[in-house]
Amino acid sequence: MEIPYFYREIETAPRAQIEKIQLQRLQEIIDCALQTPFYKRRLTKVGINCGKDLTTLEDLKKIPFTTKDDLRQNFPTGMLATSMSNVVRIHSSSGTTGVPTVIYFTADDLEKWTNLITRSIVATGATKDDIFQNMMTYGLFTGGLGLHYGAEKLGMTVIPIGGGNTARQLQFMQDFKTTVLHVTPSYLLHIHSKLEELGFSVDKLSLKKAFIGSEPHSERARKKIEELYHIDAYNSYGLSEMNGPGMAFECVYKDNMHIWEDAYIPEVIDPATGEVLPDGQEGEFIATNLIRKAMPLLRYRTRDLTHLIAEPCRCGRTHRRLSRIVGRTDDMLIINGVNVFPSQIEEVIMKIPEVGTNYLIQVEKAGALDKLIVKVEIYSKMFLGEAKQLDMLKGKIRDRLRASITINANIELHEPGTLPASEGKAKRVVDIRTEM
Ligand code: AMP
Ligand code: ZN
Repeated sequence: MEIPYFYREIETAPRAQIEKIQLQRLQEIIDCALQTPFYKRRLTKVGINCGKDLTTLEDLKKIPFTTKDDLRQNFPTGMLATSMSNVVRIHSSSGTTGVPTVIYFTADDLEKWTNLITRSIVATGATKDDIFQNMMTYGLFTGGLGLHYGAEKLGMTVIPIGGGNTARQLQFMQDFKTTVLHVTPSYLLHIHSKLEELGFSVDKLSLKKAFIGSEPHSERARKKIEELYHIDAYNSYGLSEMNGPGMAFECVYKDNMHIWEDAYIPEVIDPATGEVLPDGQEGEFIATNLIRKAMPLLRYRTRDLTHLIAEPCRCGRTHRRLSRIVGRTDDMLIINGVNVFPSQIEEVIMKIPEVGTNYLIQVEKAGALDKLIVKVEIYSKMFLGEAKQLDMLKGKIRDRLRASITINANIELHEPGTLPASEGKAKRVVDIRTEM
């Protein structure tokens, strides 16, 4: 296979060269960070008064972690490293508690981010001849505008449709012969359950690829998307604090995501102790942004759980890979003392052929105990059969779940397209234990 590159020299650079770039950029970004009241306090406290005070990458460990709370406490400008007149764009996320966080970009920061996105798109084998339907929300969320500019830079034909309105999405795919989608995996799965009802058929579409990301999903969900739409689906990872998408992306081999190490320093730590873990060991992903000068973020605690893969990839890129995100430190459920990630449940149920494209996990109190209810959509033809068959299917799902997560779940079966669906990030878990 001919491997497509956007910036071959950097993408395939020897480790020593990548580390040289990292150290040089780290020194520069520290000088920028020192312009902010927040990092001035933090860095001088540990004896760092200028970038050159770090002489090796190992010195990074001297810098304390930055957290989401730091961002909130310094809202709106406590972490801005330049004057507002140099800022050309902001992005913001409201988070769950309602206290917003904000990210600033200079024109040069945006250009660097855009290049990373173009690089990521090229790595999947997409080209300027593709018709790109960007189904992520445009606006303060980084998913829409981020991919938009990267795709335009490559010269793709961009349809900036944004999120939602399933009938219109399908109509555009059909009318413009869309070949590449950017979409959350949950929404793409949901669309499939509506397709026939809305008068469309996969065979009449021209889809080849989808970039799926912005939310956790299992390998099985990816496979399901690929089978249902007859396409290749590539995992895309990023978070707004680190710019957004374009941080880590799968290449043509779809074997975990290359993290662009000339732009980010990735680390994985034990979330309880903060100790840096070796490659291959799972923990919390920590990222240092080396390219955003308007607002540097050093050793940011993402709360995402993953590990780094150092083994070379068949594509020849030397940048390490980030393994599929297992979940977030804050989305682990503890059910009667057992730790479970929603993605573990997804992996089990999506393997069962009768199971459709959407599900919901509900946790309630039943007396002193916790009760897990898994609601799954199944294909409508199942409801035409005998009730006994449905009971057997429930039993099968329950048994498979018990074998995997050791919890006895109550299973509910639902018609396709009837469980709540989101056009962006899915809300897969309803935990009503505290409300009852
Ligand atoms: P936001 O800052 O709103 O873009 O959200 C970023 C968060 O979305 C990350 O910290 C992850 O928890 C999640 N996320 C983004 N992309 C992925 C992905 N490919 N797989 C799993 N989770 C993801
Ligand atoms: Zn690769």
